[in-house]
Parts: sequence; C-alpha cells; structure tokens
Amino acid sequence: MPKKKEARGWLDTLLGPEPKEPLIREEPEPTTLQPALRQIGIIDCPICGREVAVFLTKTNRPFVNCSYCSARIFYNGRESMRLLKKKMTTVETD
Ligand SMILES: [Zn+2]
Repeated sequence: MPKKKEARGWLDTLLGPEPKEPLIREEPEPTTLQPALRQIGIIDCPICGREVAVFLTKTNRPFVNCSYCSARIFYNGRESMRLLKKKMTTVETD
C-alpha cells in the first residue's frame, strides 16, 4: 500500500493547525567558563610538559589550564608568582 504523502502547502501551514514539530530553542551560551581571560605568557605544563598558556584571573592571579592533561595550576603566592615570571615566556596581548 502506498503511503499517503502529506503535502503541506504554504497556505495550509498558515491557516491549518500548527504542525507538531519540536521548537528549536536557542540555548544560551554557558557563562560558567571564564569569558576572556588575558593571556600573560607561555610556560611548559609542570605535569605533562607541553606548552600551555598562562592566563590572569579576574583577581590578578596567574593560572594555567592545560588543555592536554587538564591540570590546573593557580599561582597564589608571591614566591610561586616570582618563579612563574622567571620561567614563563611573556606574551604581549595588547
Ligand atoms: Zn599538562
């Protein structure tokens, strides 16, 4: 038995009942991730050894978020920041 093809003309679409189609809702962008952190340098990841970017958090703390091994390192102390500055390659962003 041949299937009846349901042809919906533009007029039917306008006048007829709404087709039961799922509405495509635009998901809002996730805002949990840091929007635009300033990159201040490049350093070798202490865990996997790959080159990763050093970012500055909103509270002006340098941190590394390694995209290879997912390690996250925050430099919260003066000494760690001093060592980081010595080790990392500074990049100019502006
Ligand atoms: Zn790593």
